[in-house]
Formats: sequence, structure tokens, C-alpha cells
Amino acid sequence: MHIPFCRHRCHYCDFHFSVSQRYRPQLLSALRRELELTSHYFAHRRLSTLYFGGGTPSILSLSEWESLFDAIRTIYSIEDLKECTVECNPEDITAELLELWHAHGVDRISLGVQSFRNEDLRYLGRRHDAMQIHRVLDSILRSDISKISIDLIYGIPTMTMDGLVENLRLVEQYDIPHFSAYALTVERRTALYHFIQKGKCTPPDDSVIVEQMKLLMDWAQHTGYRQYEISNFAKPGHESQHNLVYWHQQPYLGVGPSAHSYDGHRRRHHVVASNLAYIRSLRSGVLPHRVEYLSDEDLYNELILTRLRLEEGIPKDQLLGFPSAMVDHFCDSIEPFVQKGWVSETPSAWCLTAQGKPWADAIAREVFYIRS
Ligand code: SF4
Repeated sequence: MHIPFCRHRCHYCDFHFSVSQRYRPQLLSALRRELELTSHYFAHRRLSTLYFGGGTPSILSLSEWESLFDAIRTIYSIEDLKECTVECNPEDITAELLELWHAHGVDRISLGVQSFRNEDLRYLGRRHDAMQIHRVLDSILRSDISKISIDLIYGIPTMTMDGLVENLRLVEQYDIPHFSAYALTVERRTALYHFIQKGKCTPPDDSVIVEQMKLLMDWAQHTGYRQYEISNFAKPGHESQHNLVYWHQQPYLGVGPSAHSYDGHRRRHHVVASNLAYIRSLRSGVLPHRVEYLSDEDLYNELILTRLRLEEGIPKDQLLGFPSAMVDHFCDSIEPFVQKGWVSETPSAWCLTAQGKPWADAIAREVFYIRS
């Protein structure tokens, strides 16, 4: 469920959200309407995972959360949830919110830390500071919500290798069971892009990003984290159940502006990425969805994109089920990477090696099938 509001625009972010809170009540009514109109999406009405992302879900008030949970419960059984996550920003968390979430079945918090160091947080344009992170982590770890994941960013120009080590020490010290670590990327439609263009900010350095990724992978291996996906690290049993659904091409429903859904076969739909268009459409009872039917080529490219990033790799049985032109292309284009030692071939899959992981995107680009 995409909650498209933020208090402020972080310098590097190009997600869909609005900083104006003016249409929040209307948008939440539209969300409830979208839930009703998509209630037939699953044959059963039992959810196994639920994820509130955004934007900033933790921006919602207690009463807005109550009404959202009521709306979900009217349609779905959420008694058997395996995982229910709320994405949070450190500046929003209160004891009352934690209590309310727990009472409604939230058992996992994904906290947008990004870095424990104030100079990095200032570069990223985050609203919180290191003190707030420590305070909030203490209160989450004391709460009844049992699972926690944090987001980190590396490759920030203000972050030296020692700075990264400092962050990782704190992950260990707090015994965080799951974390996601992303390399800083500069997207065109962001403040960071413009600052760099105007010479007001130093751009990230690719060679530093690769070095920091290697340090991170080594550290994770020595401290008992499994890098089960390129950007995701978990202690055994703490892998994100919800994200594994996406990465395993299983069906899911996304609601809220800019969300997308997949039926597990060939149908995907995308919700309009505009709060006002979303509200208007649902007010007149029309789903603001753009439907897309996936070709073999789309399904093949998606399998490469998601599975190459997973520790388990690209499964041979699924890959070999594609038309022979794609299988031939795959075998020809993956071979140089196997020779280079960046990809290893096991009896059941092709997997990235530690040397190959920093080059996952470049490898995927070579292996994609694009009909000429
Ligand atoms: S990074 Fe998160 S909090 Fe910052 S603008 Fe993007 S969605 Fe909002």
C-alpha cells in the first residue's frame, strides 16, 4: 500500500509523493475505494503479507491508521499474516504509534536510517539526525514489534571507508536482524542532480561505490548476515517475506498512486502516479489503472533482472522453459561472465559470485533479450 506523502523532499529521492498534505483525507478515501474495487483481485481474501510503503506511511495519524486497518479488514482476512511491515522515518515514531501498529498486527518496522552520521544525513537532505535514530531504535527494540529492518545508503561522498565501518559497527551493536544497503544513485528529477550540475555538491564516485560494496559484503559474511539479495542482508530466518514475493514472480496487489500489481502470469497493472488524478478517478468509481500484458520477452527480462540479484540465482528449470531463441541468447551472453569468474554455474542455477556482484546491472544488460 503506497502512502504518497512526505514531510519534506530528500535530495536524492525520485519516488512518487507529495509534500503538501492538503488532499490527505481525500486520498485516504480514494485508497479505501480502490481497496473495495479491487476486492476480487485474489480468489481468496486472505493476505499472507502486508506492506505499507511510500512516501512515508509513518506520517499518518493514529485515527488515519485506525481507519486504514478497518478498511483492509472489511475486505481481507489478515489473521494469518506472515509479515506486516510499515516503512518509517525516525522523526515520526511515537510510543502510541508503535502500540497501535502492534495491536493491528504490524510485526516489522523498516526504518529509513540511511546513515548514523550527521554529515551524510545532511548531504542526503534527510530531516533526522543521528541522535533521533538512536532514540528511535531504543524505543522500537523495547516495543512489542519483534522484527526490524533498516535502510542504509553507501557511496555518499561524505562517507569515507571508516564512516561506512562506523555505520556497520552500529548495525552490529544494535543486533539489527535485517538491513537493506543501496548504493547512492543520482536520478535526474532530484535536487541532488541539480546541486551536482551547479557544482554545489560532489557527485558519488563509482570506484568508491565498488570498494564500499566489497567492504560491506565482506563484513556481512563475517558477522553472520546472508546477502540473500544484492541489496538485502538478513540473519537466518529474517529475510523479507514480502519482497521475496516480488522477486519470485508471485502474485501481489499494489494499491495507492504509483503502485503496481502482478497476477503471477502475464498481467500487470500500474496505478496512476498523480495524487489528484487518483482521487478524481476513484471519486467517479473508475480504477486509475493502466494494464499491461507481458510478452515472453518481458517475462524473460524480468526473470533475469530479479533472479540474478538473488543469492539463489537464475533457476535453470525456469530459464529453459523460454523460447529457444532466448535460451540460446542467454547461454551465449552469460558464458563470458562465467569464464571471467563473475557468474558460477551450479547444477540448478546461474549465480553471481562475490566478484560479479558489483557488476550485476552490467551483466543483466548484456543478458537481456531485445528483439532486433
Ligand atoms: S526518501 Fe523517503 S522520506 Fe525522503 S522524500 Fe523519498 S520517500 Fe520521502
